Amino acid sequence: MSAAPIIVEVAVPSPLYRSFDYRLPPAVAAAPPPGTRVLVPFGRQQLVGMVLGTRQHSDLAPGKLKAVSEILDAEPVFDPELLQLLRWAARYYQHPIGEALATALPVALRKTKPVAGDNGTVWRLTELGREQAPARLAHAARQAEVLEALQSHPQGVAREALPVPLSVLKALQSKGWILEVAVEPGASAPTTAAVPHGLQLTKAQQHAIDSVRVAGDQFRCFLLEGVTGSGKTEVYLQLIAPLLENGRQVLVLVPEIGLTPQLVDRFRSRFQLSICVLHSGLSDTQRLLAWRQAANGQACLILGTRSAIFTPLKNPGLIIVDEEHDGSFKQQDGLRYSARDLAVWRAHQLDIPILLGSATPSLESLYNVQQGRYQHLALAQRAGNALPPHMRLLDLRGQTMHGLLSDALLQTMHRHLHNDGQILVFLNRRGYAPVLLCHACGWVAECRRCDARMTVHRRRGELRCHHCGSQRPVDRFCPACGSSELLGIGEGTERVEQALGEHFAGQTVLRIDRDTTRRKGALENALDAAQSGQARILLGTQMLAKGHHFPGVTLVAILDADQGLFSTDFRASERMAQMIIQVAGRAGRSDKPGEVLIQTHHPDHPLLLQLVAEGYPAFATAALQERREAMLPPYASMALLRAEAAAAQHPRTFLEEACALAESLREDSVQLWGPVTAPMERRAGRYRAQLLVQTAERAALQRLLSAWVPRLDSLKAARRVRWSIDVDPLDTY
Ligand code: ADP
Ligand code: ZN
Ligand code: ZN
Repeated sequence: MSAAPIIVEVAVPSPLYRSFDYRLPPAVAAAPPPGTRVLVPFGRQQLVGMVLGTRQHSDLAPGKLKAVSEILDAEPVFDPELLQLLRWAARYYQHPIGEALATALPVALRKTKPVAGDNGTVWRLTELGREQAPARLAHAARQAEVLEALQSHPQGVAREALPVPLSVLKALQSKGWILEVAVEPGASAPTTAAVPHGLQLTKAQQHAIDSVRVAGDQFRCFLLEGVTGSGKTEVYLQLIAPLLENGRQVLVLVPEIGLTPQLVDRFRSRFQLSICVLHSGLSDTQRLLAWRQAANGQACLILGTRSAIFTPLKNPGLIIVDEEHDGSFKQQDGLRYSARDLAVWRAHQLDIPILLGSATPSLESLYNVQQGRYQHLALAQRAGNALPPHMRLLDLRGQTMHGLLSDALLQTMHRHLHNDGQILVFLNRRGYAPVLLCHACGWVAECRRCDARMTVHRRRGELRCHHCGSQRPVDRFCPACGSSELLGIGEGTERVEQALGEHFAGQTVLRIDRDTTRRKGALENALDAAQSGQARILLGTQMLAKGHHFPGVTLVAILDADQGLFSTDFRASERMAQMIIQVAGRAGRSDKPGEVLIQTHHPDHPLLLQLVAEGYPAFATAALQERREAMLPPYASMALLRAEAAAAQHPRTFLEEACALAESLREDSVQLWGPVTAPMERRAGRYRAQLLVQTAERAALQRLLSAWVPRLDSLKAARRVRWSIDVDPLDTY
């Protein structure tokens, strides 16, 4: 009689809210540990799944159990800690476990190829190799790639992590540039320690560092609220240094690495050891390399965007989330997680400190401080000799305007240029004009796929929709009446660039927005010109607002503060305040004082008045009070069920069915709002509607969601829509 088969529970990437049981082939004596990838038959396909555990019994009859086709890893790719984080995230954000796990894997590991084990050797640069510039190997791209990889990983890189044929390595070896060396087991500690020198800390910086150090090896969440230019980054660097020396790893999450190459440089130049930088520009193999180096402890400092929260860590000592208020920490499709919130959860589970930093903390984090959950650390003054920028509202009513440039603004700009200052002009609207209007009949160019207007991009002679990306040539004649009098109404960065060029002939005007920085390297070049002061007038969208340190900027001009003042979204004012303070924070960061002009037609608006007179903390206190009175997050929890379809009635029908189901499941404390059509109902050709679930009792929300969401696909109307659930949504439209 043969022994009963071993049954494993496997998460398979499918939209189903459950795991599946498989048996192991008889030849396999022991179950692979949780976190191991397996190839399994699923329907007619073979899919890469992940073992979650073993089971004594399956609900399926033994004869019905399918067998695992192949065990793909010799060792689990997720350790128990990471697996637990992901299982929690899948539950909390109501996402199918198999898909959640797949999301967190590097793409290279989502495929069926087994990952080769370590053969105990790594490739390293020789002395000669270190002197070579990869650029000189332009004709041998793969050799250059290897050189680059090895230069950024001085301790060496395993063969499996180098994405090239062996012949390429051999070629480099015969030049004497690289060599293969054995790594002694257990000798994974970094060989090069951190460069010790840092700046002389201010008292407040020192206090912040001491506070985090006191937490030592225990979970504690700190909110570092430091005004722009107060030296938050220096705090990070000096907190990190001793940890790295002791062989601990530090995970640093940042909003968008591409936008802040300066920040990456500061980390690189301070710590001459293996830094892993995880960003969207990495190839699949590079990402896998980084992942493995973090997992085996070779990489000490892991710097990455949102998805880096899923990096395995061998010996973590600290997590840092920089610019914690930034919306990009929230994933907007699939597993809709907040990397910041997961970071806090992970630190708790790892029992290590976590530091959230921002000049404009989210109301959520400030609320957690009020509740005593987070410890508040403040850097109230700018570092060095820098003074806080002087902010002023510029009343546009009655001003002579040149497009968006008022007379008063132009005068101030001339004064700053005359005094050798540098100017940053901010307008969060790209393109030439946001509206194309027929002067004869009033026709307006609209997107054919969205309920939105097309933006005129003049240099390319195109109309573009900023919501769905569709584009077409600018009309020469009005399609409604045939008139040729078509006017671009309103102002985008392209048009302001033109106006600035006319007003300030002879000065370099540098526009930085998504349109001017599409080409590879374009953003880096622009930022260099901005930082060096070579470009006197910088003009840009929020790309220019984020974390940059341009020492020469003395004047920041916010051209249009009115855009965000009257939005219906309850987070609009928070976002607006953060943006204004962040942009303003680019002024006067060095020896020369900074001035900030905010153009508005609503100089009496309470938000603007308060921000300018009292600063962000006062705004935040008032905003929290309003949220409390309105019972909005963070005083309440929300989830948003969205649905879309090619026909307008389907999302409504689906959401009505979903609403009825929720009615039957909900507790009294949970409220349902809707369904309603989305504020922009049609987008990219699809009609959208939504249902909001809200409660003051987070646990009740979770109970409802767990019972409700897995049943949504079985509703009658579900087949006709695409739906998604967003827990703790950032946008409620
Ligand atoms: P933040 O991240 O808070 O905006 P940064 O860390 O970029 O601020 O610091 C702003 C500037 O102040 C940088 O040029 C930095 O080198 C400098 N700086 C930071 N800390 C100190 C210090 N303790 N003494 C002198 N200069 C400092
Ligand atoms: Zn017309
Ligand atoms: Zn569109």
